[in-house]
Amino acid sequence: MPLSHRVPVDDRDAQLEVNPMYAGIADVGIPRYELPRGELPPSLAAQIVRDELMLDGNARLNLATFVTTWMEPDAAALLAECADKNMVDRDEYPQTAEIERRCVNILARMWNAPEEGGAAVGCSTTGSSEAAMLGGLSLKWRWRAGRGAVGLPTDRPNIVMGANVQVCWDKFCRYFDVEPRLVPLARGRRHLTATEAVHHCDERTIGVVGVLGSTFDGSYEPIAEMARELDALAASGGPDVPIHVDAASGGFVAPFLDPDLHWDFRLARVASINASGHKYGLVYPGVGWIVWRDEAALPRDLVFSVDYLGGSEATFALNFSRPGAPIVAQYYNFLRLGRDGYERVQRATRDVARRIASGIGALGPFELLTHAEHIPVFAFRVRDDVTRYSVYDVSRALRERGWLVPAYPLPPALGDVHVLRVVVRNGFSADLGDQLVTDLRHAVTELERQAAPLSEPDAAFHH
Ligand SMILES: *Cc1c(COP(=O)(O)O)cnc(C)c1O
Repeated sequence: MPLSHRVPVDDRDAQLEVNPMYAGIADVGIPRYELPRGELPPSLAAQIVRDELMLDGNARLNLATFVTTWMEPDAAALLAECADKNMVDRDEYPQTAEIERRCVNILARMWNAPEEGGAAVGCSTTGSSEAAMLGGLSLKWRWRAGRGAVGLPTDRPNIVMGANVQVCWDKFCRYFDVEPRLVPLARGRRHLTATEAVHHCDERTIGVVGVLGSTFDGSYEPIAEMARELDALAASGGPDVPIHVDAASGGFVAPFLDPDLHWDFRLARVASINASGHKYGLVYPGVGWIVWRDEAALPRDLVFSVDYLGGSEATFALNFSRPGAPIVAQYYNFLRLGRDGYERVQRATRDVARRIASGIGALGPFELLTHAEHIPVFAFRVRDDVTRYSVYDVSRALRERGWLVPAYPLPPALGDVHVLRVVVRNGFSADLGDQLVTDLRHAVTELERQAAPLSEPDAAFHH
């Protein structure tokens, strides 16, 4: 439950139990859930906060998250130096704005936006979720304008996507009143296929979302095939449906490791692409990107002009103020790594993922659903003939060693398939990977002693 609730009034007076070494100050009492009356010396306040944070997990043993948990010290220093920069304040920080522009240019070229026939446009966001909202809104506005222009009804828009989409797309639909046309999964089909996508489109479809790097198993959806079949649909007099590619992870992997795979603006039907700078873009949390293939793909009335910071600026974003530091760090990575560096890092990461996957596959009780074929992510399940423990038991047993490997059911209609998932990120070495496999082997030996599965699905796990 991500929302924080007010504690009951009886607990309101609960005080922080501080170490008696912090003597003197502790006597005044520090309320836990209320703004303290007095001040504390900075070092003491910082120490108390650090003590609280001690119980947070070790981020690098967290194989659940896609988000960057290690950056070079130079990047960390740059981030600290830029902590005060507000991205929206382009007049105050014109060079940060220029750096954002360079990043958008780099990404537009990395994703093969056409050089002719109108320039690509794009912007940074807080992450892929905000970028998805902007991409979805563009599709909705374009569809409505197109329909309105020829006098057709503009109510009840829908968007076609696999049931495996990340929760940000469910949010988009709910927040912006678009019907989610979720294509159910099926045996042997764990993401959206071209045939299913086309089958679910009608004249009220604002777009198809193709996922490059499915959250549930790391697989790429067949974007080129979707484009081809949607082209055929339009050519046969059917609706002309654009594609938005949710390349949250794959947008920073495919260009380096799968350069011949056509999923990006090389496909004329791809109108926009989002990616998370803070996933395989290799930046700490707080940056995402969206690029539209040309200005026509971004309706003008979604863009606001603001002039109260000095100078007039066009903005398309859900937030106003936003940290500039992660954008600077993204640019640092682009300069520091270049094409070769990104390729080297992503290849090493994917190699480690494949090595762990093979190790797990060889243990015996597990069946791999994916093998890090695409992004450095794979999912596996316990074989049907394993009756003494579940994926949830395995997840819990690994947690005892400090590893965070989530277990969850697949989306409809594969909800009876329960899987574990490993996300390998930069900074996770082959040695650590081997240790994980060893710990998993020991965990399995322990779990064999159980009579039956003990742990249940963890309702608190969200993607
Ligand atoms: C992580 C992810 C998102 C959400 O991205 P954030 O940057 O965390 O907001 C959206 N789609 C996919 C496919 C993802 O993997």
